[in-house]
Amino acid sequence: MEIEIRLAPEEKRMAPNFEKLLFGRVFTPHMFIMEYNCDQGWHSPRIVPFSNIEIHPAAIVLHYAQTIFEGLKAYYGVDGKIRLFRPWENVARLNRSAERLCIPTLNSEFVLKAIKTLVWLDKDWIPKQKGSALYIRPFVFGTEGSLGVKPSHEYLFIIILCPVSAYYEEGFNPIKIYVTERYVRAFPGGTGDVKAGGNYAASLKAQEEAKKAGYTQILWLDGLERKYVEEVGTMNIFFVFEDELITPALTGSILPGITRDSVLKLASILGLKAEERRISIDEVIEGIEKGKLKECFGTGTAAVISPVGKIFYREREYLINQGQTGEIAKRLFDYLTGLQYGEIEDPFKWTL
Ligand code: PMP
Repeated sequence: MEIEIRLAPEEKRMAPNFEKLLFGRVFTPHMFIMEYNCDQGWHSPRIVPFSNIEIHPAAIVLHYAQTIFEGLKAYYGVDGKIRLFRPWENVARLNRSAERLCIPTLNSEFVLKAIKTLVWLDKDWIPKQKGSALYIRPFVFGTEGSLGVKPSHEYLFIIILCPVSAYYEEGFNPIKIYVTERYVRAFPGGTGDVKAGGNYAASLKAQEEAKKAGYTQILWLDGLERKYVEEVGTMNIFFVFEDELITPALTGSILPGITRDSVLKLASILGLKAEERRISIDEVIEGIEKGKLKECFGTGTAAVISPVGKIFYREREYLINQGQTGEIAKRLFDYLTGLQYGEIEDPFKWTL
């Protein structure tokens, strides 16, 4: 399918001053859009000036949350080249999310072409400072105007772009996390292992309570027993015990993060053993108390690596690595951002 391009007026296409960008508030002048209906399938792909969209008040997405999304970034390299990081993994995950929510899947090659065409058209909006990037948000939702609870017969697939500032403008800031036993993010058989909009709506209450208590993120435990660690905020989580890197195994209620997978694949290069297995909150606390747990960090597209300095669990606060950023978190951050900004050779062929 050919992508029709309708350009925004010249005055709207000038890139803004990239200082102090609030995440997700500034959008580039263009967006990609295409529609689905049962007769035509996915059709009419086009890039148009960024604008509001009109949908039916009974659109299924507004009532029953039939919506999925992805998040990835385009980086402006030290060599002036624009790079995407493992974008085919995001497209594959988008289609897994689609299947889970009864949304018609998309042709992966075509989605990649749509992302690239849009990013390259708005390439002047990629901030050049290291650490900053262009955030890419593809999403799909059911638009049929019908209050029956069933999969929509009509959909929109849209891609929008936001320039974003460096996550760590003043260097690494270890986060403080709050273990909740009251709320769960996901459970076996649910939608926690895909990027469904409803997962995020359901997580807001716990996140607000953590914030009120003075913590940055929630540490999610498993939905059945509230015993095993699953994720931290909207990131996967890693622990360093002695010289071993441990992350919760993908048991069906954890999102398979692309950064998580990259860290697992990088471990051996950095001389670390890595293991995916269930890890209980009791094992984490005992590891801290006995001095065996050296580091803890979250992984995700937004921050890449986010060191954890404090954990609050059952009325007590525990310090990890004296609240400082650990050596391994730093090395992983440097390596991954080195690949993303073209500073080091890419032996995995992860960048496009
Ligand atoms: N878990 C959740 C719930 C997320 O929303 C994200 C962000 N996509 C992640 C983990 C990290 O995934 P990735 O490394 O692919 O960004």
